[in-house]
Amino acid sequence: MKKNSLYLGSYFGIPVSVHWSFLLLIFYFVWISFKQGQTSMQLFTQILFVLSVFLCVLLHEFGHALAAKKYGIKTHSIVLLPIGGLASLEKLPSDPKQELWVAFAGPLVNIVIALLLLPFVSLDLEQMSNSISGIQPFLTNLFFTNIILSVFNLLPAFPMDGGRVLRALLSFKLPAHKATQIAAWVGKSFALIFVFLGLFVPNVSPFLALIGVFIFMGAGAESNAKQKEFELEGLLVKDILMTKYEILYSQDPIQKAIDLLLASSAKEFVVLNQNNEYEGVLTRDNLLKILAQKNTEALVQEAITKIQPIGLNDKVAEVYAAKAVSESTFWPVMHNNEIVGVLDLENILEYVLVRNAQLNS
Ligand SMILES: [Zn+2]
Repeated sequence: MKKNSLYLGSYFGIPVSVHWSFLLLIFYFVWISFKQGQTSMQLFTQILFVLSVFLCVLLHEFGHALAAKKYGIKTHSIVLLPIGGLASLEKLPSDPKQELWVAFAGPLVNIVIALLLLPFVSLDLEQMSNSISGIQPFLTNLFFTNIILSVFNLLPAFPMDGGRVLRALLSFKLPAHKATQIAAWVGKSFALIFVFLGLFVPNVSPFLALIGVFIFMGAGAESNAKQKEFELEGLLVKDILMTKYEILYSQDPIQKAIDLLLASSAKEFVVLNQNNEYEGVLTRDNLLKILAQKNTEALVQEAITKIQPIGLNDKVAEVYAAKAVSESTFWPVMHNNEIVGVLDLENILEYVLVRNAQLNS
């Protein structure tokens, strides 16, 4: 489970949790309410409103998750943060039609909620802006919040939902890396506008500037990743397989791993059990963690990371793309239930460097 968050249960097989900083938001409202001398009923309504908004955000994330599920893509978790929700998909759909629906499904949920609230909306603007006390002003405010959520998320500010919709639409006509490049450029432009508005325009929340910074960084990172995927197109794992690698056994003392780390250039080790079956990987980071605990009595098996092996005929571009979610940079390669080699990130990036040098000369 995610650190720093409170687990709220699993729905549709997806664990949902809320980040502790969400509590700060509640405290903020209590404090504001206290300062304004509100009654406890007003405070209660205020908190109920925040919780209702977050329920809408949660349903928005389930929109993405359930659309992804329809295309066979799992969602690892949904986390609610004070700035919104985050659905961690196992991977992003590469088919533009699927990406379009997965991205659009979130804002669509808010549009549907707004439509459901429409019969309760009062257009008495004065009453609406002044308070949320009473059922009608409460629902009216919730209605407009959902409208804002859907409109804001649908701005073509890649990697926000609208930006993904834009990228998907462009991908119908253009190669993925070009579509991403354009969407990222539009996203970065929006990000700069958000930063400017947030910092320099009175009455605009500085929060918008922060969102702008996140969008700018996210757009750059995704665009670079897509460019790499393009450069790796057509490349299979067997093409750049490394057949030299170090093996450890799960029952080996950790000292053996330390000796091997110092004696060889390997940073990761493939770990097998007594029957020579694949068990996992021992990374240098994990090894150092064990050392920091001065636990030299430990066995290799206590420090292994279970990394799903890849196949000889897997596409390197897909292995690289999955890295964003799994965060692993080393993959054992399995063929007929046997480890036949390994692949690491350095290895992939070197290939790209060499290929680019060849293309440019
Ligand atoms: Zn969304």
